[in-house]
Order: sequence, then structure tokens, then C-alpha cells
Amino acid sequence: MKYDYLVVGAGLFGAVCAQKAKESGKKVFVIDKRSNVAGNLYTEKIEGIQVHKYGAHIFHTNDRKVWEYINRFADFNRFTNSPIANYHGEIYSLPFNMYTFNKMWGVSSPAEALEMIEKQKQAAGIHVPQNLEEQAISLVGTDIYKKLIKGYTEKQWGRDCKDLPSFIIKRLPVRLTYDNNYFNALFQGIPIGGYTKMVENMLEGIDFELNTDYLKDREKWNKIADKVIYTGAIDAYFDYKLGYLEYRSVRFETEILDIPNYQGNAAVNYTDRETPWTRIIEHKWFEFGKSPDGAELPKTVISKEFSSEWKPGEEPYYPVNDEKNSKLYMKYKVMSEKEKNVYFGGRLGEYKYYDMDQTIASALDFADRVIT
Ligand code: UDP
Repeated sequence: MKYDYLVVGAGLFGAVCAQKAKESGKKVFVIDKRSNVAGNLYTEKIEGIQVHKYGAHIFHTNDRKVWEYINRFADFNRFTNSPIANYHGEIYSLPFNMYTFNKMWGVSSPAEALEMIEKQKQAAGIHVPQNLEEQAISLVGTDIYKKLIKGYTEKQWGRDCKDLPSFIIKRLPVRLTYDNNYFNALFQGIPIGGYTKMVENMLEGIDFELNTDYLKDREKWNKIADKVIYTGAIDAYFDYKLGYLEYRSVRFETEILDIPNYQGNAAVNYTDRETPWTRIIEHKWFEFGKSPDGAELPKTVISKEFSSEWKPGEEPYYPVNDEKNSKLYMKYKVMSEKEKNVYFGGRLGEYKYYDMDQTIASALDFADRVIT
């Protein structure tokens, strides 16, 4: 065997594993079926702007170890995510905070906001929330649920809010302060020079091959290394033997506009049911509208995001962690544990709604336990 490890997938989990393996003196080879590294973090420069080709990625973490690790490969700017919601042209501040409550109800004190939420929660008769709808109403009341959550969530997940698990909405903070920083994280920012450069830095000195589909030729690839770290979809690895896990996919319509400012913010969520896209990203605002040398950029690039059910052959994005899929995943997990010398990890390998920092934490933990 020429290599100790074959890493399948050059996304974040794969890149951390490869980097840690190299650092501990192992020989490692990385393959990816795409023509680029960085997986869904991939950024490409268009009109001087780093465009997030597979959707907006804003790095945020409370984990100092993760932050220190990732800062070895990139410097981060001080971007703070403060998205806004557009409901039929009405603009609201996100995440749900005093600005949102003020616009929705005219209230200006936390006590008044709390009273409104409590009143609406009581009227809905919810005690122990059983699904996303009930969880949302108990957190922010029916008005906000109807205008800012229901339409957006049903577009994003393609399912009724009553059929979705409540944990999805718990990702969204609710604040009784005038603080519209979306993430309550200690560390936050966007890597200067783009995510692609960051992942390239992680893979420096490591052999890799792109445009290479492991699953199409696994006999050959298994021969080059003692162990395989597989970060692709777990059900695909087993040829969907037990059935398909469901994923949500996303399609982007990216446009270059001959104006300097389209929406005045990096992210605008369209929370009504009628607008077909879920959100519009204006990429230049991740870097304060300027090129790294401080020059103003005359054009802008926007991406409209359309959510759809994943079909075989498309890119899977979000695992659908409902009961049915979680049960099926557990069966695949049992199968995966019986695979000799193959480790499964990352968002697709573990069928988990991971944020970037959780992906890194999980890969670092894996490296500590396994790659020694
Ligand atoms: N969500 C919502 N309205 C919004 C933004 C988010 O109802 O304007 C809900 C939606 O169900 C979404 C969840 O909150 O799936 C988590 O949102 P987040 O922004 O964390 O999703 P991501 O950035 O991972 O797509």
C-alpha cells in the first residue's frame, strides 16, 4: 500500500482529516468527484467578489480549539451575520429580536414583547411542543410564525411545519434585546481570500485527484491505502441497499448586475410562501463591498436560492433528520460499523445537519481518536 489513508471527499471534514493525518506523519491521498476542492464551501471570484457557489457560509463558533485550528489556514474578517426578512415587501430584523417585535407589534420594551408572545402561545394552547410549528409558536407567537417562519420553512424543507422536527427552529435565536447578530458566537467571520483558498492551504503538500468518483471504481482506490475516510453520502456507499435517505437540495441562480448595490445586505430571506426563492445572497457584503485592497467594486453578484427535494444524481445539501430518515440512517450506521478499515464522517457520511465548526470539531475528534 502506497498510502496510510485515502480520504474520499475534499470538503471540510475530509480536508481536516487529511491535514491532521499528514501532520502526524501519515501518507494520505485525497480524491473528490467534483472539479474543485472545498466541497460546498467552494468560493469563486467573479467581478472581484468571492462568490459562495454552494450557498452562503458564515463561519461562527464558540469553540476556541476549532477557531485556533482554522485560523492556521486563513485570516478571517469581522463580518457579522445580520440577515433581514422580506415578507411581501415588509422588512423585519433577524434573528427574532426587539427590532422584529417592535416592527411586528409596535412594542418597545422586552416586557411588552414577552407578554405578546405569552398571550399568543396561550391562545394556541401549546404545552409541550411536538413539532416545528408548535415549537415556533411557543418561542415567538403566532404572528411571527405566520409571517417569518411558516412560508420560509415550508419552502426550504418542502414539508408542512407540523411534520418537521422542532430542533430545526431551535437553531434560530430569540432575543429580548436590540441585538441582530444572528450567531451568538464568540468567534465569527469570513476567510479573507475565500474558502477555496483556505481549504487549499489545508491540503498543501497533500496528493489529491479531482474529477474522480470513488464509488465508480472503489476496487482500484481501496488498493492504494490501508484505510479509507469516506465523507460522501452513507446510503450511496451502500448502493442505496436499504433505500434512499432524503436530502434537500438547493439550486442557485447567480446574476452579475451592473449596479454597485442591489439589496444593501448579504442575506435577505423571503419568508412568504409565494416568492419562489427562499433567499437572495449579495456576495460582496460578506467583504463589506470592497476588494481586499479596499477598492470599491462597481458591480454586484447576487444568487437566488431555490430549495428542492434531492433526486439521485443531484447534489445533496441538507439531511432531513425526521423520524423516518433517522431510523433508516441508524440502519446504515450499523452496516458502516461492520466495514473494515473504512470510517464515515461529515455531513453526508453521518447524515447530520452540521455547521462548519461542528464539522471541524468532529473531524478533529476523529483524528485524535483514530489517526494517531
Ligand atoms: N427559518 C425561518 N425563517 C427565517 C430563517 C430561518 O423560519 O427567516 C427557519 C427555517 O426552518 C430554517 C431554520 O430556521 O430551516 C434554520 O435556519 P438557518 O438560517 O440556521 O438555516 P441554514 O442557514 O442552515 O440554511
